[in-house]
Amino acid sequence: MAPAGTVTPQIVILGAGPAGLSAALWLHKLGLRPLLLEAAGQAGGMLNENLLPNDWVLGQVGLTGPQLAGRFAGHVAGLALAPRLHCQPSEIRRHEHGWRLALRNSGDAESIDAAAVLIATGTRPRAQDALPGVEGLAAAAPYIVYGPPAFAGLDGLRGQRVLVVGGGDNALENARFLLDQGCEVWVAARSRFRAQRAMMEAVVGHPRAHLLSPVRLRALQPAGGGLRVLLDAAPHELVVDRMHVLAGYAPNTDFLRDALPPALFAQLGLDAEGYLGVDAAARTGCAGLYAAGDVCNPLFPSVVSAIAQGALAAKTIELDLRQPPATP
Ligand SMILES: Cc1cc2nc3c(=O)[nH]c(=O)nc-3n(C[C@H](O)[C@H](O)[C@H](O)COP(=O)(O)OP(=O)(O)OC[C@H]3O[C@@H](n4cnc5c(N)ncnc54)[C@H](O)[C@@H]3O)c2cc1C
Repeated sequence: MAPAGTVTPQIVILGAGPAGLSAALWLHKLGLRPLLLEAAGQAGGMLNENLLPNDWVLGQVGLTGPQLAGRFAGHVAGLALAPRLHCQPSEIRRHEHGWRLALRNSGDAESIDAAAVLIATGTRPRAQDALPGVEGLAAAAPYIVYGPPAFAGLDGLRGQRVLVVGGGDNALENARFLLDQGCEVWVAARSRFRAQRAMMEAVVGHPRAHLLSPVRLRALQPAGGGLRVLLDAAPHELVVDRMHVLAGYAPNTDFLRDALPPALFAQLGLDAEGYLGVDAAARTGCAGLYAAGDVCNPLFPSVVSAIAQGALAAKTIELDLRQPPATP
């Protein structure tokens, strides 16, 4: 707890997914004052998109993503730390004792001060940007489903022809579910398949599965109740009933370019895909800005790593506020 007579430092957390919620819990328990700002209309982040039981979280057996999100958000709300929803910063500036943030979507102009800012804004599914240079995207839109909604309503697709675009876990898992529904499934990856072995094994060799790699889509043409897909490698042409694009995720860091002064933005040193780099203790290259979760973890995005990084960032912030790290 802060000593009597001192003001407890406020820590702003951007994003109320697993990483941000975990950080809020830990900051609170470490005696600081977390404030969660969430751009969406609910807490939980990507968990809200995972409608299947998520058995990857120790001790949480059989819960779907939204059920897990409800548990995490409920824990934090029970400590009077519920996030401010539909709320994100338009400006982040250095200020006398840390940072001053101007808020967007808050009706009236409002600014808040923070001793430190934690960026836990996660990722978003790649959409049209995953299909650069493909002709006919707009006309083909009614046939295409992007990202997590490709997992909804699969039992209504019995017997259909489906092209899944992507080579990772999401794409191969989607292919397996479609095969279970009796669909004919093509999976097209632009480079080698990189899904977990178990997910590959469930699809490879299946009589109704066709794995294509490396291959790129060239053009899409609605044709007689189906979608003609032109490819740059064999079989060169397919006709399908629908296309699922599950081609990875992009980090939610674009807003930082607008919100931060250019010199501070440059200190963040985003990688080529826009992911934040952090040291082993969750510090970014810009003193006083921290990051946790998928937004800085392209190698191992998951619920448990996001929770762990949120806790780690909270602990680092608490230590740094007691004893700021030496600046070079
Ligand atoms: C379909 C699907 C299935 C999955 N299955 C599994 C699984 O089985 N096991 C597993 O471990 N993981 C799974 N995941 C991944 C897991 O959900 C993520 O790794 C985890 O949610 C990451 O947590 P996070 O807090 O880092 O980011 P997120 O969950 O992405 O949360 C980030 C939050 O930040 C908010 N935000 C974005 N920009 C701003 C801004 N500028 N200001 C304020 N707020 C902002 C977002 O609205 C979001 O609520 C799955 C994901 C999907 C989509």
